Amino acid sequence: MAGALITVPAFAGRRDGVRHFFGTRHEPRDVGSLASDDESVRCVVSVTQVHGTDALVLDRPVRDGETFAGGWDALLTNQAGVVLTIRTADCLPMLVHDPVRHVVAALHVGWRGAVAGIVSKTLSLLHHRFGSMPESFQIGIGPSVGPCCYEVDEPVLSRLRAGFRDWRSVVEETGPNKAMLDLHALVRRQAQAAGVDGERIQSVRVCTACHPDLFYSYRREGTVKGTMISGIVLTRRRSR
Ligand SMILES: [Zn+2]
Repeated sequence: MAGALITVPAFAGRRDGVRHFFGTRHEPRDVGSLASDDESVRCVVSVTQVHGTDALVLDRPVRDGETFAGGWDALLTNQAGVVLTIRTADCLPMLVHDPVRHVVAALHVGWRGAVAGIVSKTLSLLHHRFGSMPESFQIGIGPSVGPCCYEVDEPVLSRLRAGFRDWRSVVEETGPNKAMLDLHALVRRQAQAAGVDGERIQSVRVCTACHPDLFYSYRREGTVKGTMISGIVLTRRRSR
């Protein structure tokens, strides 16, 4: 279905050796078909997400249909043709590309994962496993629930205060121990704190809860009616 996926050319274009997409509720049901027009795509990786910070590192060829036990909220690969996908419905999809070391990552980031440090942990892992430097990263941040619709209470705020020193900059208080949380601002600032230049972080600033025509939203619907699929794939083998 044309127009059902969101891409951000400033983040990564086809000539960069990478393809990506942020999903909407109108995407094809079969994830494989999202990239089936590209003969360089060999398999699609989808895993169980647990709002944690653990990363699945795929640094060897992946078989089509291969499954991965466990729970993961970050996927990393240096393998061409392996589509890394994550599913969100208000949480934030974050895609990372290092055009120098030819590696990509896909992250599922909710407030729990953000406060627990999934962003810095994943960028650090890309450095240690693949030699990526912070200044090389290009980051694409997809649609998530906006500060307009994301009121959080004390259990979230106490964890945020403990886990993010500059927490005041990403909340707007609405009452005693209640505040609107700007998840996008939090994640963006964490990436910058990890050494990524703000100009290399591209965002789709659309609130999933405000746009029922485009997105599923746990906040709005009160239940998981469906999820959006976002993904990234290296389309070229690394030339040595
Ligand atoms: Zn909103």
